[in-house]
Amino acid sequence: MSIQINNLNQIKWLYKFRNNIELVKENLYDFLIYNIYSPLILREWNRRKNKIPNYINAQVPSFFKSLMEQTLSNEQLQEKIHFFWINKAIQVLSGYQACSIPLSEDNRVEKITYNLLSPKGRNWLYRFKHFQEQGQVPINTGHEAFYAANKFLLDLDLFISLGYLRNCSLLNNAQQSNLTISMSSGCYNGCCHCGYEAKGPVSHMPYPILLKLYFLFDKQTHPAYLYADSDPISYRDPIIGADCGDVIHYVSLKGQFMPSFITKGPLKKENNTALAKVMEKTPVLLSLIDLPGERDVEQNKRRIEEVFDIAKDIPKERLLQMPIVRRYSFDELSKKEKTFQQGVPSFCGRWVDTWTKLKLSDNQKGGNNFADNGVIIKSSGEIYGVSQNLITHRFEWQKLGNIFSVHSQKLKISHFNKYISLKMASWQYD
Ligand code: SF4
Repeated sequence: MSIQINNLNQIKWLYKFRNNIELVKENLYDFLIYNIYSPLILREWNRRKNKIPNYINAQVPSFFKSLMEQTLSNEQLQEKIHFFWINKAIQVLSGYQACSIPLSEDNRVEKITYNLLSPKGRNWLYRFKHFQEQGQVPINTGHEAFYAANKFLLDLDLFISLGYLRNCSLLNNAQQSNLTISMSSGCYNGCCHCGYEAKGPVSHMPYPILLKLYFLFDKQTHPAYLYADSDPISYRDPIIGADCGDVIHYVSLKGQFMPSFITKGPLKKENNTALAKVMEKTPVLLSLIDLPGERDVEQNKRRIEEVFDIAKDIPKERLLQMPIVRRYSFDELSKKEKTFQQGVPSFCGRWVDTWTKLKLSDNQKGGNNFADNGVIIKSSGEIYGVSQNLITHRFEWQKLGNIFSVHSQKLKISHFNKYISLKMASWQYD
């Protein structure tokens, strides 16, 4: 029986049936995408691996691939799977116990270390280490370890509470439709129209915190965007190994909203796998890079071709939609920058500087409308209120607090002329 995975509960259901031969045969791609393994699944993967799309094969950890080169009984395989999850869970929980926020492999990023584990998380880590030393894993502990390290069935109770945000009036008042949670900060693309003037280094929000943030919102007050001064394709949490494809899968399966995904295309090879996973759940909008100079036409062409090649690798029934090329700003023949071809100017503030810099006429002014007069939670946990000064047309950013510092409570959103207070769900007017 082939099943359609449309929500997180169905993944839990899939996990229960990992030893059912019929289900494994029919749903192998989903078992692999959601990191669910059993001796049966590994043997089925090994039998069919040459016909499986690259991005799905890339999900299988090399440890499991190497197991298939050995002669092992089902019992031995099962034991190795339990050990894989125990080791992985220890690595994940220890990683978040001394987690540097924002996460980055670039040492130019200033690191502040936090412990993101809840008491339950610390307790589980302690127990897992005990069983690791003993060299044996009870079955229930093997399941717990799976829930502590699986990107899709991650037990969020293992991590600190962000519950105080739930009481934040602005984030819950249902009029606030333009909340942005930024998975990453910083960008390597260097587009000349960039309203944020984003540059490297790039840093990322810890994956469990990102998921927790999504759980705080309901259908009315969902975060509209996943990124602000970054290209979402760069997202990578090195502790659990999650990429933007995992985030999009998770968020869409949670069923709160379907995020839009706008990217300039892959920067590294590993981005291809992430992008394929994104395309299973939401349309990829390919917005082209705007850098003056000839190499950019070539770079854009390469990126478009690459993204369409990735789409071809996805089985038809899994591909949501072919990528959409959203903007083309270069004249290929003259190799010169042409125009911005977007509609009504909507994104104010810093875009105004960009328009002036590029000497664009009114009908060429464009931009994204996210973050207009909204709230952004950046990857470092800082909450910014953004509003437009109607006289200067400039953005006014105000730092409102930090999700990791529970005590910073006062928020002032000048556009709304209101103060709001975290923890107390009450409005205070200016
Ligand atoms: S991709 Fe986006 S964030 Fe990055 S430089 Fe270009 S416009 Fe700015």
